[in-house]
This record gives sequence, structure tokens and C-alpha cells, in this order.
Amino acid sequence: MSGRVNRLCIKRDCTEWYAIFLIETESTQPQNVENVSENRIRGCDLGLEKFIVLDEGSNSKYEYPRFLQRSELKIKRLQKHLSTKRNGSRSSREIAFRLARLHLHVKRQREDYQNKLVSTILNKDTDVLVLEKLSVESMLKNHNLAKSLNDASFGSFAVKCIKKAKLLGKHILFVDPWGTSQFCHNCMEWVPKDLSERKHNCPTCKIEISRDLNSAKLIRRLGIQGSPPSDGGSSPAELLPLPSFRGMVNKSEAGSQHLDVGGRHKKRLRQLGEKVLACDFVHHPELFRTPVVATHANTD
Ligand SMILES: [Zn+2]
Repeated sequence: MSGRVNRLCIKRDCTEWYAIFLIETESTQPQNVENVSENRIRGCDLGLEKFIVLDEGSNSKYEYPRFLQRSELKIKRLQKHLSTKRNGSRSSREIAFRLARLHLHVKRQREDYQNKLVSTILNKDTDVLVLEKLSVESMLKNHNLAKSLNDASFGSFAVKCIKKAKLLGKHILFVDPWGTSQFCHNCMEWVPKDLSERKHNCPTCKIEISRDLNSAKLIRRLGIQGSPPSDGGSSPAELLPLPSFRGMVNKSEAGSQHLDVGGRHKKRLRQLGEKVLACDFVHHPELFRTPVVATHANTD
């Protein structure tokens, strides 16, 4: 560790003490986004079945180890035990402490896994990572998903991606998640499917791939072409059928999660992502490359 120490914080977490040093160092100069070649741009789909799916690469799928689920039985047992004790008694304090330790353990497992995963994704072959602008809030209303979503913690994953990218001088780009599971990445045909359908079979271009892989490829494509419709229609992305399709397809028909990053990560993401969201992509028309497929779906 080198650099000038600016601040030292002492923190206590579950009877453990930490010294946190805030150090000033030379920052990594971010690469010029205009020079990023297309093969160094990765699209990434986030989900509950597979935590992340990248648009290509040998290790393109990462399962999420359900840390909370693994410790759930222990947590429940302790909670039950705690409920039988008198409030404020010595034994209730002891059990509460064990419970807090267990939650800390799960949190650390999750942090460790996500940190390592972010480092793996933002490897030497990736300069720009395109993610969906997630919205867990509405999904949390679904109680069947809520627990898994809390366990997966997509918000903290996105924050980690942004931080790491800044550190390495790379870029994170967010695109609108609407319709990313429904459009065909290749021909932009609308291929409706509900959550249980795991395959993407396009009737137009006959592509048959997994649903998550199609999403990852589409996310990458949207990232390369600029993210409609947030660019105000100034980019060639406007020519693509996606923005006009938005008005034509009923949201309930879409069967796709329309997500917002929720809770405590929202503000943090906004602070961190401000620069990233206003990514240089949309300001450099020369960056918008010819669409992967020249044909546009007929919107008539
Ligand atoms: Zn297709």
C-alpha cells in the first residue's frame, strides 16, 4: 500500500474493530473511449438463475452461490431460540451476538464473491462493460423473488463494477433493460417469451440460443449503438426499431422485468455513476458503428 494517508476511520462491526485508511494515490488514466475496439466491449445480463451471463467467452456464465440460503436454516434456528429468551437477559444477548456474526459471515461471503467476480469480468480483454440499468425495487414486490434478490444484491454488484472500472481506467455503460429479454439480438425481431422460457428461438432469423445469452448479446449491441432512448434520438440508435417498438408493445405482454436499482444503493449509484451514465458514447457519433445487422424490423 502506497500513497498519502488522508483520513483514518475506526469502525466496529460485530465486536470486531477495523482501521480504514483513506489513501491518495495517482489515479489510472482512463483509456479514451473512442479508441475502444468493438471486440473489447462486453455485454452482461444479470439474473437469478445465472447470476451473470456474458455475451461471449469460454467462462461466460457465473452461477450465484446462494449464501443466504445456505445459512438460512442456522439463522432460523437461532431466531427461534432467541424468541424464547427474555429480552435483555444474558443468554438472549449471547444468541443475538451469534446471529449477528452469522449475518456478517453471509455478507462477507457475498462481498468476497462479488469482488472476485468483478475482477474476473473486467479482465484484460474487456475495456467497456455494458450492464442493464437494473431495478430491483419492483421485483422485490414479488415475495417469491425477494429473498433471492436480496441474496444476490445486484445493486452492490453494480457499485462494485463502477468502482473497479474507475480504478482500472475502464468504462461501465448502462442501457435501458426494457425488452432486453424479448428482442432478438440479431434481427431485432420481437420474440415474446415469459420467464419460464429459457430458450430464445427466433422465427425470423432462426437463431436458437439460450435466453440469457440473447439478452447479453442484445445488451452489448445496445451499448455499442448508444442506449436508446436516453440519447434524445441524436444517435443512429434512433433508426433501430427498439424505441418505436416500446410504444407498440404492452408492458405486461413483455413479461420482462422492468427494473430500477433500489434502496440504499440508489444514491450511491447516482453519485458513482453520474459520469459513467453520461458516457462519452452518446457524445461521439463516430463511435456508433454500423449496426451488427443492417436490416431493420418492419414496424408497420
Ligand atoms: Zn432474429
